[in-house]
Amino acid sequence: MKLVPIALFVLLLAAPAGADGYRWVKGNTHAHTRNSDGNETPRRVMRWYLDHEYQFLVISDHDVVTDVTYLDSDRNDDFILIPGLEITRAQDRLRLHVNALNPKRAVPTAALGRTAAETLQNSVDAALAAGALPQVNHPHWRWSITADDLLALRGVRLFELLNVNRDSNNFAAGGRPGTEELWDSLLSRGMVLYGVASDDTHDYLGDFTLGLAYPGKGWVMVRVTELTADAVCAALQQGDFYASTGVELADVQISDKEYRLAIKPLGDTTYTTRFIGRNGAVLKEDFSLTPAYAFRGDEAYVRAKVVSSAGELAFCQPAFVRK
Ligand SMILES: [Zn+2]
Ligand SMILES: [Zn+2]
Repeated sequence: MKLVPIALFVLLLAAPAGADGYRWVKGNTHAHTRNSDGNETPRRVMRWYLDHEYQFLVISDHDVVTDVTYLDSDRNDDFILIPGLEITRAQDRLRLHVNALNPKRAVPTAALGRTAAETLQNSVDAALAAGALPQVNHPHWRWSITADDLLALRGVRLFELLNVNRDSNNFAAGGRPGTEELWDSLLSRGMVLYGVASDDTHDYLGDFTLGLAYPGKGWVMVRVTELTADAVCAALQQGDFYASTGVELADVQISDKEYRLAIKPLGDTTYTTRFIGRNGAVLKEDFSLTPAYAFRGDEAYVRAKVVSSAGELAFCQPAFVRK
C-alpha cells in the first residue's frame, strides 16, 4: 500500500506537534465588517477575535478588500489579520460566493458565466489571478451549489463544510444531503477537497436573537511553524488543519499505516470518533481519547469526525489512500 503524493505531503507535515516546532493556531476565514454588511468596524471585529484567543482572522467583505495593515500593527500579540474578500455573485436566485484569502494584488472582477459552475470557476480564477487562496462558501445556502458544480471546478481545495449561519443548510434533512454528504460524494469521485468551518460573521453587537451571524461558532485549527498569512494559507491549501465547532485536538497524525488523533477532553464530556471512507461509509467507531484507524489500503480516502456529548464537532481532513 502506498499513499498518493498529496497524502505523502500531508504525511510529512503531520509529525507530532511540539517536537518539530509546529503548533496549532485558531482562526476564522470568513468575517464581514461595516465595509460591507457587517455591523461593526474592522478594528472592533479584529478586537473580538483577538480577545477570544484566536491567532488569525480573515476579513472578507463583499467584493472589497479591507486594508488590514494599519489595523494589525502589534507584532507581539500572537494574532494576525489576513486580508481577503468575498467574491459575491448572484445568478437568478442562486448565491455563488467565493472567498479570496490573502490576495497579493487586486482581484479582477469575475464575470457571470452562463451557468453556476462557470460563474464559480470565474470567481476561483479571479482569486488565483490575484495570488489568493480560493474558498467556496456556503454551498447549500439557497441550495445554490451542487456536487457537479464543485466537481467541475479547477484550482480549488477549500470549501465551507460548516458555514455556521442559520441558512447554510449544513445538515442532511428532508431527503436532501448536508454538506458532509456533499463532501463525501466529491471525495468518492476523486476530488481533493478540504472542509473549513467558519463564522461568516455579520453580527457583533450582543443581540442574542436566534438566526443572527455571531462570532465564535465555527473555526479552523491550522498547523504552522510561524504565524504569518503565507504560512496559514499554505497549510490550508495542503489540508493541514481541522474544522471545529468546539472539539479540540491535541494532535492529528497520519502515517502510511494509520490515522491517529488525540482529543483534549473537557470536563465530563464524552467523545465518539468516526473514521469515514468512500461514500460516507463508517469504517470504524472509537470512544477513546486517542482514536486510531489502521489503513487497509483500499479505502480511497479516510477522514475522521469527532462528535462530543455537548454536540460539538471536529472534522479532520481526508488522507488519500491507494493500494
Ligand atoms: Zn456569502
Ligand atoms: Zn460572507
